[in-house]
Amino acid sequence: MIRAVKGMRDILPPATGIWNFAETTAYSVFRAYNYQEIRTPILEETALFARGVGAETDIVGKEMYTFEDRDGSSLTLRPEATASVMRAYIEHRLDQLPGVKKLYYIGPMFRRERQQKGRYRQFYQIGGEAIGSESPLVDAEVIEMSVEILTRCGLENFQLLINSVGCPNCRPAFVELLRQKLSELAPKMCVDCQRRAVTNPLRVLDCKVPDDQPIIETLPSILDHLDSACAEHFHTVRGVLDHRGIVYEVRPRLVRGLDYYMRTTFEITHSGLGSQNTVLAGGRYDGLAESIGSKVPAPGVGFSMGEDRLVMSVEGTLAQTAEALVIVTFTAGEATRNAALSAAGQLRQAGIRVEVSEGKLKKVFETANKLNARLAVICGENEVAAGTVSLKDLAKQEQWTAPSGELLEQVKKCLNK
Ligand code: ATP
Ligand code: MG
Repeated sequence: MIRAVKGMRDILPPATGIWNFAETTAYSVFRAYNYQEIRTPILEETALFARGVGAETDIVGKEMYTFEDRDGSSLTLRPEATASVMRAYIEHRLDQLPGVKKLYYIGPMFRRERQQKGRYRQFYQIGGEAIGSESPLVDAEVIEMSVEILTRCGLENFQLLINSVGCPNCRPAFVELLRQKLSELAPKMCVDCQRRAVTNPLRVLDCKVPDDQPIIETLPSILDHLDSACAEHFHTVRGVLDHRGIVYEVRPRLVRGLDYYMRTTFEITHSGLGSQNTVLAGGRYDGLAESIGSKVPAPGVGFSMGEDRLVMSVEGTLAQTAEALVIVTFTAGEATRNAALSAAGQLRQAGIRVEVSEGKLKKVFETANKLNARLAVICGENEVAAGTVSLKDLAKQEQWTAPSGELLEQVKKCLNK
């Protein structure tokens, strides 16, 4: 038997209903903040991620699905979308459009990670990018919007963590300081940290290994080393969040795995998720455009939400959102069949969820029961001859007959629509 590839899963109904709900909710929030959709290819040239995500990151170092195409070029299944959005932005000269360019995407990403709960090799992200402004108001708006999506999806008790990671003006001195401290401390840390201490000291702060935490606590805080412009920027982001009543915690150890992040970084975690507890991560990436070869600067800020993890978190708490189902059935012959199809057509036009079911009434009712249908509409020979339909409330087990012309009205009443 052929099964789905390891780490890649089928998402089946009824769970897909929750996925649809999450996406519909995200669409409406994006619309409210004046974001428009961008769709970029799943495959990109490998160089885009090597440069845009950073050669030293885990993603590029060990998680990408990279292959050689028939013409010898190296292609990669996208592990994230920000680099692709920025490539498209540069390629199509979106910088020439007026205002802040606000783009959102929803789609699959691919990383060859160890599969565990909340961690898959094909997973889905819902993300937004605001490109073309350095203003801290934009950072705060992006954060507010991502909180809004989670809230409207029904997520409760999540935690928003924010930090600033400085900029190319102030960060190098801090990284140098870290490097010095780590030359002494790293040998007592995990092997990954020993490597990071040399290649990317900032990422030591991000280490999740419990035994390393007491050492990490002793390391200097980047917030004490921001230059005045970065400190002012962070101050304004915080001020706006405070004004908007958005609760957050400042976490000076919060750095991002991706090299192009600068200034604001943020994450939202949810305790119900266990060890893979980050639902969403984001930040400002003013240096990204240049790192993938743009001559014009394109400062941006964005976030990406793990849709798999969001769905996992709200699955249990979400009330049944499925709409009531109406079964339309007929007894025998063309006239009753046509009456049933017309009835179904009319109800569907009105936005009601309808299934046409053929067969003996007893069997139809049995199936209707299993499908959890609310109501049956029966088009029998007598009904058709009299210009009526019979309706059966399947919960109350009550049946009655009404003129065909009143069908929609009666069904709506029964469904409380
Ligand atoms: P993590 O620390 O969990 O590995 P990350 O830093 O690699 O996350 P990002 O690149 O910031 O993740 O991606 C943003 C979000 O996408 C994450 O917060 C998470 O919700 C989701 N995500 C990332 N990798 C996976 C995965 N392999 N499976 C499911 N969701 C994922
Ligand atoms: Mg990861």
